[in-house]
Amino acid sequence: LNMSRLPVMSTKRVLTSSSSENSQDMAPVQKKMRKDQGPQKPQTATTIIGDKRPPAAAAATASLYRPVRGAGAATVAVAPSRGVPKQVKASSAPKAASVKQQAATKPAGTGPTRRQPWDLKGKVSDMESKIRTYQTKIKSLSEHNEVLKGSLAQSKAKAAELEREVERRRREISEFEQEQQRLSGVQSELEKVSSEKNVLQKELSNLEQKYKVNEMLRESQEMELQTLKMKQSVQETTMAQLQDTLKETEELVTSLKETVAHQKDELHAGEMERRRLHNTIQELKGNIRVFCRVRPLEDGGLTKHIQLAPSDNKSIILAKTEESHTGKTADTQKNYHFSFDRVFGPQASQQEIFDEISLLVQSALDGYNVCCFAYGQTGSGKTYTMEGEEVDDTRGVIPRAVQQIFRAGAKLQSQGWEFSFTASFVEIYNETLRDLLYSGKASKRPEHEIRKAANNEVTVTNLTYEKVYSEDQVLGLIALAKQNRSTAQTSLNDRSSRSHSVFQLQIEGVNSGRDVKCKSILCLVDLAGSERMVKSQSQGERFKEMTSINSSLSNLGIVITSLANKESHVPYRNTKLTYLLQNCLGGNSKTLMFVNISPEPDSFGETLNSLRFASKVNDCIIGTASSNKK
Ligand code: ADP
Ligand code: MG
Repeated sequence: LNMSRLPVMSTKRVLTSSSSENSQDMAPVQKKMRKDQGPQKPQTATTIIGDKRPPAAAAATASLYRPVRGAGAATVAVAPSRGVPKQVKASSAPKAASVKQQAATKPAGTGPTRRQPWDLKGKVSDMESKIRTYQTKIKSLSEHNEVLKGSLAQSKAKAAELEREVERRRREISEFEQEQQRLSGVQSELEKVSSEKNVLQKELSNLEQKYKVNEMLRESQEMELQTLKMKQSVQETTMAQLQDTLKETEELVTSLKETVAHQKDELHAGEMERRRLHNTIQELKGNIRVFCRVRPLEDGGLTKHIQLAPSDNKSIILAKTEESHTGKTADTQKNYHFSFDRVFGPQASQQEIFDEISLLVQSALDGYNVCCFAYGQTGSGKTYTMEGEEVDDTRGVIPRAVQQIFRAGAKLQSQGWEFSFTASFVEIYNETLRDLLYSGKASKRPEHEIRKAANNEVTVTNLTYEKVYSEDQVLGLIALAKQNRSTAQTSLNDRSSRSHSVFQLQIEGVNSGRDVKCKSILCLVDLAGSERMVKSQSQGERFKEMTSINSSLSNLGIVITSLANKESHVPYRNTKLTYLLQNCLGGNSKTLMFVNISPEPDSFGETLNSLRFASKVNDCIIGTASSNKK
């Protein structure tokens, strides 16, 4: 092996060649040589150098790599120390090497022996041989250098090649990396897609369930539809039947309407007939009626001097026991008999009283003027009878009459009647009129005059005529009148007992469908106390009052009497009261007079007077009434 390699090394062509093929083989050869030539003896080396043969050069080169020993090593010391690190090591002991080299050359006998000082020629030849040796060495070293240079170039080329390779790999790596990134993108996309797929699958299964539900629903609805269709056909049949029925019913309604119209006519005729008959009854009862009412004693009983017949309710006996003047004869009792249309005892309730008047109130609604007076001494119960008290049971004639009129008017609406009511409340004191419904300032209270229009209607100037629509409103007016009366009252003088108070309700009814109208007045009068005073007791204002009251009450009696006697002249104008009430007295009107009586024995005289006055009125028959039809 050693020998076969050596020739390659030795060829000149190989040493100078820069071809990469040969230089590549160089390194392994050098290594081998260093190992194999280690045991070679210095003598052999020396010989080779001398022969100047290529193997010797190779050996010398090899010796450079050997551990420093023998003559071969000595050449190293002068060689350039750059390149291989082992050369540096070798040069660290140049002296020792050269000493050993000198010692080693001696026994060989071929090298220059020690020259004699004079042997300059020999010395020169020695030097020259030395120089030749060095030159040879230099030559081999430069050759070696060349080889190394070639090897370096190869290495460089190889390095460049490797760099390119690295570059290529890097590019590949980056390409791979890009590919990997792309793939990771693809993977994430894949994951996304698969999650989307999951969602879609869920959705799909949901939809499938919904579909199933819908299918079921649809089936049930179809069934329902079927049922409804059946029902519809049933209903259509029913409908047809109903339409037939409707037609029949409509015909029936038409005929019934005709009947109703006919019956309405009959009803109206009946109503007019009722009015006529009612009036006939009232006339038969008397167009002027007198009722007597006895107030209960304060403990509720009745005194002996007033006797009421239990069998009928029309007579009253006033009994007076006269003591015997001589005392020898028995006391004589004088009885005064009176009979009226009705006599009410102390137990009679407000309702019982009103039941009798309600017939006349009906007459007022039918179109007849109605006048109702309460006559009697102060304290006999006139105001109680007319106004009563505020609790339901104790209400008097005025609120009850108003209630009846409103209710009857509302009922007549179904027959086509429209009613309107106007209320006024006036006080006559000392022949002066005072508006009891006045609600303005006391200082601006107006004066009043009674006027008679061309159509004979009587009105009072500046008086409050209040349209009323409800019972409550009338109750309010009564309360206002009460308040107005009490403000005029002084502590000494109970003015209400010294004056007449006249409540008037004008009633207007229209039946536009039948072109019928009616108009009437309901007058409810609380007269002044009828008691007469002893002349010596009455002076000044009191006297004037008394005269005024007496004259107006007696004039009322005269007016009624002359009406009854059909006298040509009826003195209405004599007093304010009769002048105001002229349309309600006589002619077509109905008059009712309450005679209120106090049961106390000391009122005997006044009671007798009142009963006498009342029976005078009672004896009158006022005209024949005809209703105010227009
Ligand atoms: P007048 O108005 O005639 O002066 P009133 O109506 O004021 O008399 O009556 C005097 C008193 O007697 C009042 O307290 C009244 O409540 C009472 N009174 C009158 N009549 C009756 C009666 N029928 N039942 C109960 N109390 C009555
Ligand atoms: Mg009174």
